[in-house]
Amino acid sequence: MVISTMSSERGGQVNSTFASRYVRNALPKFEMPETSIPKDAAYQIIKDELMLDGNPRLNLASFVTTWMEPECDQLIMASLNKNYVDMDEYPVTTELQNRCVNIIANLFNAPLGDGETAVGVGTVGSSEAMMLAGLAFKRKWQQKRKAEGKPYDKPNMVTGSNVQVCWEKFARYFEVDLKEVKLSEGYYVMDPVKAVEMVDENTICVAAILGSTLTGEFEDVKLLNDLLTQKNKEKGWDTPIHVDAASGGFIAPFLYPDLEWDFRLPLVKSINVSGHKYGLVYAGVGWVVWRSKEDLPDELVFHINYLGSDQPTFTLNFSKGSSQIIAQYYQFIRLGFEGYKNVMENCMENTRFLREGLEKTGRFEIVSKDIGVPLVAFSLKDSSKHTVFEISDSLRKFGWIVPAYTMPANAEHIAVLRVVVREDFSRGLAERLISDIIKVVKESDTLPSRISTKTAHVTATVDEVVSSSEGRVKAVKKSVEEIEQEITSRWKGIVDGKKRGVC
Ligand SMILES: *Cc1c(COP(=O)(O)O)cnc(C)c1O
Repeated sequence: MVISTMSSERGGQVNSTFASRYVRNALPKFEMPETSIPKDAAYQIIKDELMLDGNPRLNLASFVTTWMEPECDQLIMASLNKNYVDMDEYPVTTELQNRCVNIIANLFNAPLGDGETAVGVGTVGSSEAMMLAGLAFKRKWQQKRKAEGKPYDKPNMVTGSNVQVCWEKFARYFEVDLKEVKLSEGYYVMDPVKAVEMVDENTICVAAILGSTLTGEFEDVKLLNDLLTQKNKEKGWDTPIHVDAASGGFIAPFLYPDLEWDFRLPLVKSINVSGHKYGLVYAGVGWVVWRSKEDLPDELVFHINYLGSDQPTFTLNFSKGSSQIIAQYYQFIRLGFEGYKNVMENCMENTRFLREGLEKTGRFEIVSKDIGVPLVAFSLKDSSKHTVFEISDSLRKFGWIVPAYTMPANAEHIAVLRVVVREDFSRGLAERLISDIIKVVKESDTLPSRISTKTAHVTATVDEVVSSSEGRVKAVKKSVEEIEQEITSRWKGIVDGKKRGVC
């Protein structure tokens, strides 16, 4: 890469990096450049290119925190150079992690004695947390089967087909068969009755979700606990429950304190939560806590004792940054129970406002429930002419990123839009979003349908969209054909990427 220097500048070289004048050839994409460039040039080049990323605050697809207080940003910047794994060098950071684990375990009603420390660990996110929880269940199950002289080569776990992709990853990476309870139209979470029916002697755990990624709905963990207790008694098993509370773990304790979903239920042995979702920390922190020491097989734990006290570690990664742990502790002490409750109540209030605004248009069916994670999932009442994918696409013009996706098995024919309401999604933004959605819907009324297949109230699937546009392109000019194809492939990209990958 050539960064030209302005030869007319005398007495020192002034590098300028604005593309049209000074960066004369393509930026390195495959090989490391031969020569160095000035730091300000590198900065400017990358900063310019990043302008084309979406605006995180307008990214309504994600649960992950996009705003923190400047004081916390300062703490984060100050600890960017601390490797979390160096526990002997940074004992205070380790201590903050342990305090966070205790705080979360108590929030989830772990049966801890006075002064007893909780069993848990900070992770990169819920995905790592869930892998660790899954590994603990697998190992516990294997130990038991071995002791009984029974085969231990076919472990399985039971989930709803609405599971987040990370259980699918766990199943494949660690060779556990995933048995999924199918959904049905109008019921988009795991049915505890069907789940317990699927449990057999090889089931390492049943995994429930507190805040389904697709609709924000809480699964009925209490009913699951009761039904499974009964089955365990009949069969002489002790099949446990894991709760994936990635998004709901910081909602339920504040908004629905009487809802029993956590360690108050005896079969719940481990819970994960994403610190970077409603824990209100930037991306890069999750937590897993176990009910008691007995629920985490000791052979999975590596003990480090150079702190003077025993420091057990159980993670998949070694090195990682400390900032997120420090930021989590900041939020806990800065906000306290009162502060978290207030934030979550505001999120719920804005969710209600958004839902009512969408209902008033008369065009949408609300798929999310009143109780759950603050999000609105909604489908089109009539998608015979236009689909939610078109609406998602059109909202991009206003800067909004609102994903559209199809539901998993057996409700694939339902396609929805989803808006996650985070702390930084204010009432003002909610008002604008509603008015922009109304504009998009009105505009689409004036446009010709891209769908030829009539599918009553059922939203067109990707295949229908693809085939209808392929049918159309033959009759129109080349340039229009290209546009159609581009739109189709973009929709397809959104669906492929988002239907199981929304985070
Ligand atoms: C986000 C999410 C995950 C994955 O969590 P990360 O913290 O992004 O790794 C898992 N399960 C559910 C229900 C989620 O919402």
